Amino acid sequence: MMEIKSYYGGQYRDGGASSFEKRYPATGEVIGQVELATSAMLDEAVAMAQEAQKPWAKRSVQDRGQILIKCAHALREANEDLSRLEVQDVGKVYAEAVSADVPSGPDVLEYMGAAIMTYHGTQHEWPGAIGFTRRIPLGVCAGIGAWNYPVQIALWKSSPALAMGNAFILKPSEMTPLSALKIVEIMEDAGLPKGLLNVLQGDSHLGSAICNHPGIAKVSLTGGVETGKKIIAQSAESLKRVTLELGGKAPLILFDDCDLDKAAATAMDANFYTAGEVCSNATRVFIHRPIAEEILSRMKTMTEAMTVGDPMADDVQMGALISETHLEKVLSYVGQGVAEGATLVTGGDRVHPQGFEQGYYMRPTILSDCTDEMAVVREEIFGPVMSVLIFDDEEEAVARANATHFGLGAGLFTRDLARAHRVADQLEAGNVWINTYNLIPPDMPFGGVKQSGFGRESSHYAFEAYSDVRATYIALDD
Ligand code: NAD
Repeated sequence: MMEIKSYYGGQYRDGGASSFEKRYPATGEVIGQVELATSAMLDEAVAMAQEAQKPWAKRSVQDRGQILIKCAHALREANEDLSRLEVQDVGKVYAEAVSADVPSGPDVLEYMGAAIMTYHGTQHEWPGAIGFTRRIPLGVCAGIGAWNYPVQIALWKSSPALAMGNAFILKPSEMTPLSALKIVEIMEDAGLPKGLLNVLQGDSHLGSAICNHPGIAKVSLTGGVETGKKIIAQSAESLKRVTLELGGKAPLILFDDCDLDKAAATAMDANFYTAGEVCSNATRVFIHRPIAEEILSRMKTMTEAMTVGDPMADDVQMGALISETHLEKVLSYVGQGVAEGATLVTGGDRVHPQGFEQGYYMRPTILSDCTDEMAVVREEIFGPVMSVLIFDDEEEAVARANATHFGLGAGLFTRDLARAHRVADQLEAGNVWINTYNLIPPDMPFGGVKQSGFGRESSHYAFEAYSDVRATYIALDD
């Protein structure tokens, strides 16, 4: 049984108050006890982070960048270990963790290390004076994570903050406390000064305390919309800056001139990758009526060929959901969809794979004959449930795709270049994919509009989230 503690100021800390059971989603077994950090521990961690931040901010961008790049290389070397932890944390399949989800963390860290070396302000001239702008760090920043991509969330939040010269306190989700600790160990071994990156274990209470803490200048949340609203309210007293990466209910519009093979395969990935526990997933699949039957039948065949079970097995395509409670919630959405008139094309039930009977598994699910009013179409389910909707023309597709308070991702498949641009331009989302989906490289900004949040992760836009801009003026004559 693992004892899962907080790590700050360069070492593991005792003194956590109550504890939270960490279960392996694939078996349901308790594999550790998470010691929840107290508010006194938060105070101590903030004070240590403040001390560590001052000399770090004074170092040259070359120094900071080189250290972060070394850390990224060390994390890549530990990719397999980190991926096993990601599986223990989340229950997702190892093949996904090791090939994409976990490496996406060091990729952004490396990008930030390199990008900070070329990041610069602006220079201005007037008669008798000049001016320049420069980015300055905020001090101690914090990240509060969701449970679906713990390695990625830890690094996408901390790496631009560290590159900019801040210290960072990370609160991983209480459901996925493992990998963040390993990340700090590896980065400190690779040369990151102690006290700059700190992990505090806790649930919503610690999250609230972070938002209220006067010593923390900024908080970045990855989580649900309701949590996002609470974060803003709780951060008001200390006027903290806030970045919110929230939920989604993305549309994927398949036009009748698209490549059917690619479109059907992409719709599957955009729904069943990581058991559907992906914020940007395209869970509303709008299909042009002339191709609807064909696409649906291909997707049904592919879905029924997917194997569900042991996340570590090579021949398994879908692992477990994060918890029993979450599994029940997802299954109840399927029931509600059918009760509201949707047709269950495939899936919709819990499964108990041999040897993993107590794990939190369900079959990937497709619902057709969906309408825009159904709960399965309006609300984020965050599980392997695809809702299929039919449309007749472009204008209708765009209007229905936008009829949501979410705005994280959106996609479309067509071979018509003009239509691709026209439709992409009208979709209300922070990320729009044409003839592909969920492509998220480190040099492109990722984030939402509407109630999917604000602020961007990855790319040089992420630096703005962790810095202020200072305008300096110099008189050159009297
Ligand atoms: P959640 O909102 O329940 O929890 C997220 C984090 O917030 C956890 O660490 C939790 O402890 C903390 N928290 C909860 N209440 C809090 C409070 N009052 N004050 C401070 N912290 C609090 O979300 P979840 O169930 O962990 O994750 C799923 C959600 O995350 C989904 O809605 C998903 O779409 C979203 N998500 C978004 C992105 C993105 O980049 N936009 C990425 C992944 C997940």
